[in-house]
Amino acid sequence: MAMIATPAWPPRSLQRLFVQGPLGPGLALGVEGPQAHYLANVMRMVTGGQLLLFDGRCGEWLAEIVDVSRKRVTLIVGQQTKAQEKVPDLTLAFAPIKKGRVDWLVEKAVELGVSQLQPVVTQRTIVGKLNLERMRSHIIEGAEQCGRTSLATIEAPIKLDAFLRGLDGGRTLYFADETGGQPALTAIAPGPATFLVGPEGGFTPEEADAIRAAPCATAISLGPRILRAETAALAAVAAWMASVGDWRDRLSG
Ligand code: SAM
Repeated sequence: MAMIATPAWPPRSLQRLFVQGPLGPGLALGVEGPQAHYLANVMRMVTGGQLLLFDGRCGEWLAEIVDVSRKRVTLIVGQQTKAQEKVPDLTLAFAPIKKGRVDWLVEKAVELGVSQLQPVVTQRTIVGKLNLERMRSHIIEGAEQCGRTSLATIEAPIKLDAFLRGLDGGRTLYFADETGGQPALTAIAPGPATFLVGPEGGFTPEEADAIRAAPCATAISLGPRILRAETAALAAVAAWMASVGDWRDRLSG
């Protein structure tokens, strides 16, 4: 059973590392490669040092370093420090944007609590390929940094028409529409949700009509100013998290 987390325990300054699970008490595991280099050479951690581990499924655990060799750091898993979190069911569907900015968007969306990321290719999408492996490493970094125990998933990019055909009627599709929609906080209601945000050039009028025609779609406005795509995406996620997501829950450490 998880030890009651207190403001002092576990120290939030402890390093957090994502590892392949399943994690459990007394488990001995070795980390190698970049993670071992990071712990031993960058963070200069030594035998007896403590860090927090999570595997995306079994919560967070305190671990102790029992050996540091040139290529491998060996850890023993101790007590559970956090139960597995249940993040709200929120998908961010976004038209891919330039490299640096999409990395930033993914990391911030993870910090804000998004459960799934879905790149959607639209007519004015200028970015061809999206490196999903690089996106996954940003998802892990974001989770390590913000204290998450779950990992957001990222799906392979799909075309807008396939995205609209695949919509699950049980989810509300909030369409971020800079040409006019309901004020976000008025439109947002509890329940599984997907936010769709366009590319820098926006959606074409035909695309906007097709999105609005989707039975579960609601066009929302994020205010009178034209936001950059990544700003609009994070503003939409923040509005949803604050009004119907887990930001309303008391922080339980
Ligand atoms: N087509 C627009 C233009 O150039 O006039 C700009 C598109 S904007 C940079 C990128 C995307 O962000 C839009 O497709 C929309 O999804 C979202 N967005 C930006 N500002 C918004 C607002 N005020 N309300 C709702 N969505 C917005």
